[in-house]
Amino acid sequence: MERETLNFVIVGHVDHGKSTLIGRLLYDTQSLSPQKMEEVERMSKELGRDVEFAFVMDHLQEERDQGITIDTAQTFFKTDLRDYVIIDAPGHKEFIKNMITGASQAQAAVLIVDADEGVREQTRRHAYLLAMLGLEQVAVVINKMDLVEFGQERFDAVTAEVTEFLGKVGVRPLQVVPISAKEGDNIAVRSEQMEWYAGPIVLEVLDRFRLPVRPEGKPLRLPIQDVYKVDDRRIWVGRVESGIAEPGQEVVFLPAESETRITSVERFLEPPLEKAEAGESVGITLADPLFVERGQIACPPHSRPRVTDQVRANVFWMSKRRMEVGENLRIKCATQEVPAKLTRVLRRTDSSSLDVISEEAGELKNNEIGEVLIETREPIAVESFYDVPELGRFVLVRGNDVVAGGIVTK
Ligand code: GDP
Repeated sequence: MERETLNFVIVGHVDHGKSTLIGRLLYDTQSLSPQKMEEVERMSKELGRDVEFAFVMDHLQEERDQGITIDTAQTFFKTDLRDYVIIDAPGHKEFIKNMITGASQAQAAVLIVDADEGVREQTRRHAYLLAMLGLEQVAVVINKMDLVEFGQERFDAVTAEVTEFLGKVGVRPLQVVPISAKEGDNIAVRSEQMEWYAGPIVLEVLDRFRLPVRPEGKPLRLPIQDVYKVDDRRIWVGRVESGIAEPGQEVVFLPAESETRITSVERFLEPPLEKAEAGESVGITLADPLFVERGQIACPPHSRPRVTDQVRANVFWMSKRRMEVGENLRIKCATQEVPAKLTRVLRRTDSSSLDVISEEAGELKNNEIGEVLIETREPIAVESFYDVPELGRFVLVRGNDVVAGGIVTK
């Protein structure tokens, strides 16, 4: 039977022990595999515009990720139950970017907090983001217990502090585990120093995370990534974000509104597929020789996302240079990209304290969250993040910089 894989992120304030925990997880599960890392790196280097169809099919996901993000390191380890991918971003900003753009595709998160320092600014900002992105499966580890004599009192105090903040943003941790990443306590092996803790240790908690069930009965959403010509045939490639793509299906491409029919669904060097489900990257051929380019989204004609130039959203501003209402930006959503500007900031909030800075604001600064109205120069197809995440998450770009990420609320 095919083993299942769960992707998760480790988040937390700088120096609270993310890297040490990753190292410890790999070490304790005997899964340090340099070959695999090399392979991934080599492949992403080879990736370019002049790639073969085969390569495109295999690496569509990576290409897509690279379009809007930076290098996310992925590390792998196994338990008896399943395989794990730890998604790690080099720094605070990269992490935020990856989380919002969905590049990391995390299904769960581990929030790490230094037992000695307790909750800090980035602990709160990251926790807020987990909540904003609807990541419900969160475990908390209180690290560096060795620095506080493995004491239960300190653990209880920090636990109370973390759970209070998480409660404010609506996250209920699955478990809070006292650990020492450095010494390996309660990660793969139960600590002899903390016999007062009877709950599950880190690997057990990870095994308790559930794999997301593929949403069934959702309408097709297939953003077109690229168009390729292979043996005189035209093939539109992309990833099915929701629903099912199958031959014979009537589709409308939005926002262009071109209607046609899917004639085949395929993968390189494989017999034609009967269908492709959410999460699969495929190529499709169409009944009419339409001019459908990157950025269009294939949907069923009877169940369309909204095509609009007005979007209501929550954005997380992550550029040192502030945003002024009305300034020219670009919005990237799925494979769409169009000029856009924020026309109103209805509410401006500090992502660490969660204090409302003001209602109706003319600007947003670094690490602030805005409830905003966005106007796009051309209509785009969007959906509420909570219905179809891939059409409900976006980034805002200024020049070549990603300056904000957000989710569509209406
Ligand atoms: P990151 O910034 O969150 O990735 O943090 P690091 O993993 O780089 O750890 C920051 C510092 O804390 C390093 O000096 C680590 O050796 C130290 N550290 C991490 N885990 C522990 C722990 O369990 N106990 C102690 N005493 N130090 C730790």
